[in-house]
Amino acid sequence: MTHAALTRLQDGLAALQADHLERRRLLLDGVQGARVTIDGRRVVSFCSNDYLGLAAEPALVRAAHAALDKCGVGAGAAHLIAGHHRFHEDFEAAFARFVGKPAALLFTTGYMANLGVLTALLGRRGEVFGDKLNHASLVDAAQLSGATLTRYRHNDLAQLEGQLAASKAQDKLIASDLVFSMDGDIAPVDALLDLAERHDAWLYLDDAHGFGVLNDGRGGLSERARASDRVIYLATLGKAAGVAGAAVAAHASVIDWLIQKARPYIYTTASPPLLAACLLESLRQIAAGDARRERLRGHVAQLREGLAGLKHGALLPSDTPIQPLVVGTNDAAVRLSQALLQRGLLVAAIRAPTVPVNTARLRITLSAAHSADDVALLVEALHAVA
Ligand SMILES: *Cc1c(COP(=O)(O)O)cnc(C)c1O
Repeated sequence: MTHAALTRLQDGLAALQADHLERRRLLLDGVQGARVTIDGRRVVSFCSNDYLGLAAEPALVRAAHAALDKCGVGAGAAHLIAGHHRFHEDFEAAFARFVGKPAALLFTTGYMANLGVLTALLGRRGEVFGDKLNHASLVDAAQLSGATLTRYRHNDLAQLEGQLAASKAQDKLIASDLVFSMDGDIAPVDALLDLAERHDAWLYLDDAHGFGVLNDGRGGLSERARASDRVIYLATLGKAAGVAGAAVAAHASVIDWLIQKARPYIYTTASPPLLAACLLESLRQIAAGDARRERLRGHVAQLREGLAGLKHGALLPSDTPIQPLVVGTNDAAVRLSQALLQRGLLVAAIRAPTVPVNTARLRITLSAAHSADDVALLVEALHAVA
């Protein structure tokens, strides 16, 4: 008997390879950071989301060692059974205090948090209004919820307002990346909140790339958004926070509801409590992280100044550590990335369909772990490989 489904997979893989769309994983040895050993080579990396250099911070490593002796390795059960450890509880309280919201809930990943929030708050009578550049997990979450998904052009508030006005849904939710992951620009938080208030909608802000970095580390919420019980805030904790997981902060009733109804929270084993202990230390480092953020801002300014006159590509307008250099075709982006790698610089080429056709780019991400010399090296190389 032939196995037709397997043959179709193999044909599909061959087609990806033929179209140069096959993705492969680079192999990392040792610790994440500005300098990494990847595929056996020592390179300067401009690829990670470890914006503050906390992934290998000794204080976090010490926190992990200390926690191991107190709580072992695995959580052993889901939160609602017997896996909810005091470290989880303490982190949630500290996180809520830090971002200025009444309560918080820790999920195992940002992807799971997005699935959990949207499926718990919305059903078939709901409608999600999402920016077209939102992260894939928000799109998947809307689909899983069964709500109608209506997408608006990137930051196009006039179009969003029209869609909200036309909606007959019982529950409405505006979902937006707070910092857009492939462009590095920031959503207009207060204007989105105005629309949420006018149309009686939730505003769900995914701050995967802003938490730890923006506003003294507390992320991209405005004071108004902190105070609003319509605003549900998500920070992922594997990026600037340097660990893993994600925390949702909101009105206490929202958090209570999520504990009752968010299936990706309920039906999964709690994350190892030692990670929550690391996250408590990470919060301390973020709160005391002005010097790291200052260094990061310096790197952003240095890169933008250095690449201002570049002929074969242009940086998108961005004040965040995500600095996309748009070069056009997929092929151009891949060749540029390869030329940089030959000089020991690792920069990811992001191609269509992840980004719109003919806006293939190098996604340069900067970290406080970089030195000014690292950034200078990248600027020089980008001019040289023109
Ligand atoms: C990375 C990312 C996520 C997913 O978070 P994980 O913790 O990595 O699962 C969600 N939203 C955005 C905008 C992201 O960039």
